[in-house]
Amino acid sequence: MPDTAPPRAGLPSALADRLRAVLGTKGLLTDQAAIAAHSTDWRNLFHGSALAVLRPATTAECAEAVRLCAEAGIAIVPQAGNTSLVGGSTPLGRGDEVVLSVARMNRILEVDPVGMTMTVEAGAVLAAVQQAAAAADCLFPLSLSSEGSAQIGGLIGTNAGGNTTLRYGNMREQVLGLEVVLADGSVLDLMRRLRKDNTGYALRQLFIGAEGTLGVVTRAVLRLMPRPRDIQAAFVALPSVEAAVGLLNRFQRLDGDSLAAFEYMARFGIELVLRHIPDVKDPLAQRHQHYALVELASPRPDADLRGALEGVLARAMEEGLVLDAAIAESETQRLALWRIREEHAEAQKREGASVKNDVSVPVSAIPELIARGIAAVRRIVPEVRPCPFGHVGDGNIHFNFSRPEDMADDAFLAHWEAIADAVNAEVRRLGGSFSAEHGIGRLKTGTLAEWRAGTELETMRRIKAALDPRGLMNPGKVVPAS
Ligand SMILES: Cc1cc2nc3c(=O)[nH]c(=O)nc-3n(C[C@H](O)[C@H](O)[C@H](O)COP(=O)(O)OP(=O)(O)OC[C@H]3O[C@@H](n4cnc5c(N)ncnc54)[C@H](O)[C@@H]3O)c2cc1C
Repeated sequence: MPDTAPPRAGLPSALADRLRAVLGTKGLLTDQAAIAAHSTDWRNLFHGSALAVLRPATTAECAEAVRLCAEAGIAIVPQAGNTSLVGGSTPLGRGDEVVLSVARMNRILEVDPVGMTMTVEAGAVLAAVQQAAAAADCLFPLSLSSEGSAQIGGLIGTNAGGNTTLRYGNMREQVLGLEVVLADGSVLDLMRRLRKDNTGYALRQLFIGAEGTLGVVTRAVLRLMPRPRDIQAAFVALPSVEAAVGLLNRFQRLDGDSLAAFEYMARFGIELVLRHIPDVKDPLAQRHQHYALVELASPRPDADLRGALEGVLARAMEEGLVLDAAIAESETQRLALWRIREEHAEAQKREGASVKNDVSVPVSAIPELIARGIAAVRRIVPEVRPCPFGHVGDGNIHFNFSRPEDMADDAFLAHWEAIADAVNAEVRRLGGSFSAEHGIGRLKTGTLAEWRAGTELETMRRIKAALDPRGLMNPGKVVPAS
């Protein structure tokens, strides 16, 4: 839950001198304003406190800084773009940690368009990685609304998903090689560019999704894909959530190879975007309660995806699954359709307090989840405004709830736990997960302890103890203390 920090103590001056000698003045921030900027999360829910912000420019600097902190027994919070939605990237309120930002390590080191790989540093911003891939006539397929800020280290740290997981998988699937600074400052070099490599334990997988609790990712080798030459997108009005799942299924059966994204949105989310984000227009003349954004993509220029898209939509309309649709006629229009989806999180933030549930269930159970989840939350806050949206193709719904119009933020947030519990009860009943893609951070450690209790949690604790025996890497995140 959100918290407020007590006053901070200072960084011991001998350690500060040694860190400055390694990192230079640009690499060690100790002024209050800079520390505060790195200690608050994107949603402004967590206000932590740190001794300093370390900003290494190379792996060697990072390793030496981690070693010095380990020697002094000071805990480290790895941070990349700081867009975590679960409080993973900001320090606790204790004031005895340092933030280690990889933002200065932002170089794209190599693009290999024949081997279809890219080698990058952990502070490279996702949008820059996408652009570098496109410049080499390739695609780096991960795409999410925070791509202008989120960085490779954080995307790996969270095993980020997004709009194209349906087609290309999560971040885990995009990472071939990895370099990690371990808790004692040693460097684990796994920077291989191989598709096949069965040589013992798959160590890199341990660090993907570990949320900075096992080490600091400093470099990665990423897999690239062929760049699509035909892309078609449609904004589709639907009579129900069931119809969204039905339409997804039609596309998977009839054009599964081309289906690149299938995102669900409810009318309330569209209203918020139209209200808060300038220059966004409703693509359809009539208002509807449910929508999907569908995208087909192929590297084949002669794939005729326009014909395929129109064909599936026409048949679905005859079946009553589709009420209306707008197909993008240009790249500008396609991006405008995506903007409606991408701005959901920002628009909801501007509307006031919300409780976010990043959950997944089997795709066929999504309609039941949404119907029963809304009913359960309305028993707690009758005037709550549900805002479910997201990656329906992966069974991953951002099952968010905005506060009632006339309720104060604090009063609504007092119901946080009750709302999350009500949604999670339905998720559990349907065999789902309480955290589909955002991770655990500090927000969901209690739920992890409850849902994964027993051998699964014990195994996580043993891994943590083996790699970080003194508990100095991002304490209080992911694995709860026993
Ligand atoms: C508007 C918006 C939309 C979003 N949409 C999506 C979405 O569609 N899919 C999705 O998965 N997420 C989404 N997110 C959440 C967030 O963007 C992702 O979790 C992203 O991967 C975080 O990247 P970051 O660079 O901001 O990392 P940070 O927030 O800085 O860090 C995230 C976690 O990774 C750890 N970490 C950071 N750097 C390193 C490193 N170098 N080594 C090891 N660990 C590290 C941190 O300690 C923290 O635990 C969204 C967030 C916003 C604000």
